Amino acid sequence: TGKLALVVGEHSVDVPFSGWAKMLADGQAQPGPYQCPISGDQTYRVAAIDDGRIVNTRAIVECEQSGHRTISDDLVTCPVTGRRALHSFFEVCPVSGERVLAVALAPCPVCQQRVNPQVVKGNACLACRSMRSVRKEDPRMARLLDEYPGLDHWRKWKLFESSRVYILQTAGFARSLLLVFDKETMEPYRVAMAGRFSATWADVSDLQRDEILG
Ligand SMILES: [Zn+2]
Repeated sequence: TGKLALVVGEHSVDVPFSGWAKMLADGQAQPGPYQCPISGDQTYRVAAIDDGRIVNTRAIVECEQSGHRTISDDLVTCPVTGRRALHSFFEVCPVSGERVLAVALAPCPVCQQRVNPQVVKGNACLACRSMRSVRKEDPRMARLLDEYPGLDHWRKWKLFESSRVYILQTAGFARSLLLVFDKETMEPYRVAMAGRFSATWADVSDLQRDEILG
């Protein structure tokens, strides 16, 4: 008994073989089939995928973002586009928690987080539509007001806490204020204002931002 090297391009694997090389050359003996390490199939039809593994040709699929030849287990299906691609092309939507192709994520018009566009309805993502009244005594508000005392000037607050950010809204007599803070660092991700009855948020200038946050 011995081994035959199965060479595909620059890659090779060994296939067990019992017999004499001459019989193989003469066509009197045939090596056994190759067992694909992915599908487990016994096959004579093999090819190398891009990472060098040699597999049954039927186990080979293509990443729809890169064209990379690989196996099905290495691909993820995007819930927005239905495209199958390698993990590295995906990001987690901070609102739905789904893995979505990064190119398919879209900024929410309110919080500007890049989200699965399916969670955006009526110009706001699900998180932004889920803000609820919160009291200043709430520990999250207390932490925020401690960090940014200028905000204490506003009275009534609505808040939503996502996995990454706090989204807050408050309204004064003439204007509404929108704030998005990173939960860990408390850095403002967005500070925007809108007219009292306008649905369009406009980012404030750096100067205004400093005044508002105090
Ligand atoms: Zn949003």
